Amino acid sequence: MTTSETRSASASPTEGLEQRRHLMTEIPGPRSVELMARKTAAVASGVGTTMPVFAVEASGGIVKDVDGNSLIDLGSGIAVTTVGNSAPRVVAAVREQVEAFTHTCFMVTPYEGYIAVAEALARLTPGDHAKKSALFNSGAEAVENAVKIARAHTGRPAVVVFDHAYHGRTNLTMAMTSKSMPYKSGFGPFAPEVYRAPMSYPYRDAKNMDGQLAARRAISIMEKQVGAGNLAAVVIEPIQGEGGFIVPADGFLAELAEWCTAHDVVFVADEVQTGFARTGAMFACDHEGVVPDLIVTAKGIAGGFPLSAVTGRAEMMDAPHVAGLGGTYGGNPVACAAALATIETIEAEGLVERAQEIERLALGVLHRLQADDDRIGDVRGRGAMLAIELVVSGSDEPDAALAGSIAAAARAAGVITLTCGTFGNVLRLLPPLSISDELLTEGLEEIASALAATR
Ligand code: PMP
Repeated sequence: MTTSETRSASASPTEGLEQRRHLMTEIPGPRSVELMARKTAAVASGVGTTMPVFAVEASGGIVKDVDGNSLIDLGSGIAVTTVGNSAPRVVAAVREQVEAFTHTCFMVTPYEGYIAVAEALARLTPGDHAKKSALFNSGAEAVENAVKIARAHTGRPAVVVFDHAYHGRTNLTMAMTSKSMPYKSGFGPFAPEVYRAPMSYPYRDAKNMDGQLAARRAISIMEKQVGAGNLAAVVIEPIQGEGGFIVPADGFLAELAEWCTAHDVVFVADEVQTGFARTGAMFACDHEGVVPDLIVTAKGIAGGFPLSAVTGRAEMMDAPHVAGLGGTYGGNPVACAAALATIETIEAEGLVERAQEIERLALGVLHRLQADDDRIGDVRGRGAMLAIELVVSGSDEPDAALAGSIAAAARAAGVITLTCGTFGNVLRLLPPLSISDELLTEGLEEIASALAATR
């Protein structure tokens, strides 16, 4: 069976929700406008909204809103519903678990699902060394715990992160995140002992800056400004997410990982956004044969349920003392059931290959657009994590207003479209892997029309 056949076969469980874009009202419709007024009155304004429509149902490549509009989903709730919204196996597993029990706290009376998730993570993550895992609730929480584990293992305080990095919104992860507005501004002081090194950013680096040179540039900063003997961990997104879908030059990650190994520094891959088939491999590190000491996962791990994990070398994972890791809800049984069903879905439906097909289809369209429009400075990404970087014509000056107006026009046409990037000028695609080729093509056509309309 080819993956396309797999796609149509697996489309059947989503039959309930017609896989077709259909607008009944303007976007937002009157019911969404009403709900937005209630949101404004009741919800803290710091919690923003990308697209002001309120969801009632979602599956495949469609999100349906309260006004009956069916929207094409090119965001997956920020790379979460990779297997599709309410994926059939996830729904069935969650139902069964909810009826059995909803919570005991794994630290009070444990249960098998948590162990099964840890075993699956040991099997799926890069490297065939002995591994252990600890489960948490959010990406940020898992990143914080990876740092705790690295510090406990090395007895050293410092952490190195990169330009354009995004690691979360808690105090330590705000310190690790690069962009001030909106993530950090006004929320300091931040956790100490976090240092920033330059990222490999092929589009903006000098043309001779290959992966090895870029790694040496970063390593020089680490050696001079931190000192390997003070450094617990280097934490990096193998493809940066919020920072602009930046794919480092070949060899950059491997060179950094090698330097870490040589200096007993823990190499941590933050695969919160890139993990679980998103990039056309189970993990983005797999593309380069890089084996991180610790890998942080969340988002796509559990089909929409809050779950995250730190997985890594058993001896590192065992460094913290008993009860030094944990939390009331970490590895909640319902989230674990969802994760096991998500992993089963990825494997049974060939979703790694599906992400590769999406890459071929979408990159073809995006490269054609770029050939005709020099405001698309760069087309990049892997699998179903793709982006265009928009610049002022004839330059490499970031054009955030252009990215914003294309996204706004696509949304008005019923396509959920996200932007990102330190400069706010990157339009990113994160479709669920359950989207049909037809819907994906239609979504891309809408982006193309929105781009054309801005000429
Ligand atoms: N790391 C990366 C790479 C992310 O993309 C994100 C979320 N965008 C996080 C960490 C934080 O995850 P969460 O929002 O679940 O805390």
